[in-house]
Amino acid sequence: MIRDFARNVLQFEASTSHGSLSWEKLDKQTWRCEPCACDTQLIVRYQVYAWDLSVRSAHVDTTHAYFNGTSVFLRVHGQDADQLQVEIQRPAADIAQAWTLATSMSVDAVDADGFGLYLAQDYSDLIDHPVEMGSLSHFDFSVQGVAHRMAIYGRHQADMQTLARDLSKICKQHSELFGELPLDRYLFLVMAVGDGYGGLEHRYSTSLLCSRDDLIKTGISTKDEGYRRFLGLCSHEYFHLWNVKRIQPEVFKGQGLDNEVHTQLLWMFEGFTSYYDDLALVRSNCIECKEYLGILANTITGVMRGKGRLKQSVAESSFDAWTRFYKQDENAPNAIVSYYTKGSLIALALDLSLRGKTDGACTLDDVMRALWKRFGRTGNGVKQGDVESLVSEISGMDMSEFFAQAVYGTSDLPLKKLLRYVGIDMHLRPSSNEKDAGGVVEKFQSVIPRHFLGVRMGKCQDAVISHVFDGGAAQSAGLSAGDQILAINGIRVSAANVESMVEQADDDQELDIHIFRRDELMRFRVRPLPAPEDTCDLKLINDDTEAGNRRSAWLHAPAC
Ligand code: ZN
Repeated sequence: MIRDFARNVLQFEASTSHGSLSWEKLDKQTWRCEPCACDTQLIVRYQVYAWDLSVRSAHVDTTHAYFNGTSVFLRVHGQDADQLQVEIQRPAADIAQAWTLATSMSVDAVDADGFGLYLAQDYSDLIDHPVEMGSLSHFDFSVQGVAHRMAIYGRHQADMQTLARDLSKICKQHSELFGELPLDRYLFLVMAVGDGYGGLEHRYSTSLLCSRDDLIKTGISTKDEGYRRFLGLCSHEYFHLWNVKRIQPEVFKGQGLDNEVHTQLLWMFEGFTSYYDDLALVRSNCIECKEYLGILANTITGVMRGKGRLKQSVAESSFDAWTRFYKQDENAPNAIVSYYTKGSLIALALDLSLRGKTDGACTLDDVMRALWKRFGRTGNGVKQGDVESLVSEISGMDMSEFFAQAVYGTSDLPLKKLLRYVGIDMHLRPSSNEKDAGGVVEKFQSVIPRHFLGVRMGKCQDAVISHVFDGGAAQSAGLSAGDQILAINGIRVSAANVESMVEQADDDQELDIHIFRRDELMRFRVRPLPAPEDTCDLKLINDDTEAGNRRSAWLHAPAC
């Protein structure tokens, strides 16, 4: 997404030792100063308004200062390849006297707290090292002899020992998968806040935003869902240090930052990364096998609930990411497929296909290692079609039909058939309630489909429709996103009870629904439809020892 960081640049001034210079603006993000004598330095001063508490820009307040280079460093035209020196001074205010600074940027000369001089090889290196300063807590660990650090900003009660142990296992798992760790330092920068989630990958570090409750608390040994999600996020961004920061689409190489750069390959870069992020948690023994399969069931459910998957391929979704995936509107579930989630299922399907066809001799792990050797280590960019041909080359099989359907087509992946190879039975059923996203079960249950309006409700207390699904009852009746449902069959409703009101309706009964559309009161007759079979349950087949062994080999888990 084009984020227009230059809009936060304020009070631009240019001068030399002889005095101030005039300047003009050429476009939304380019300044040109009047020519000055060659024997003097051009000095440019500007302020940056920094108030976006996310991993992608900059945020400064009395507790910390965080920034990405993209938000603060102007790029000097024609000097992109020059080495740069950066001095970061400790803020003068009393509150900053105890601050420390964390960044993965190359050190030139800094004090014990990290303030001082840094070096960047060129402009693209300069903007690839986010900087955090504040009262940070941190821990260190080593992976394959490489120093790793996690630095945390924000109030938290994280059990740093457990966190260090789990994180080092995950990093070790990824490093072993690729066979080498191509760096000399790595930094996890974490902002722990009340409520937040996000991550952004860099070559030598990652920025993460999480809820402080997601960090495991001292004294609590059970790993809750939030902590599992946080480990998955760390795992995802760390995998990117190979897959997208070093193995890159060819079109990303040497491109400027001014315009959208289009690629059809995000299903591989984000999708495969999304497959390995959670897989590494079970392979490194941070979660149990059944927990992993539960996550997998939820992912399958998520993909099955988007009708957009029947209209858009993941190759198209990648290409249009700039204006569709990153600019989602109320029609997104009907129009867009996620190259993250469907991409991760394509990775799963490809992994299981390769294992099945080669009797376990060739796996997706081999594909990732081959991608690393051919494109990561060499710096050669990945072109469209390269992944497909590499898979065929190392497996010795023609997999073009698989890619034609999975990547360029819109039919559903044959997961039910593929999962049986590793002793897992898959079943799709209607959801039993609105929070039901499937899971691992002992026995498949037959569920009588409940009445379903075919909408998603917004997060406020009022019953405001946020999305209307294609082919659903609400759409047929004429309801729209933004409509506030006031009453069903004459009884007032809220977001909390809309669903139960619809479920209680008799089979043939039309519902009498009153809504506000903007400020106009309207009345609709809606005949609910049965809830679709879009919820995935997985069950282990325990009487097939060979399949069980294949499952163990896939998950690196002895028993499951
Ligand atoms: Zn990612």
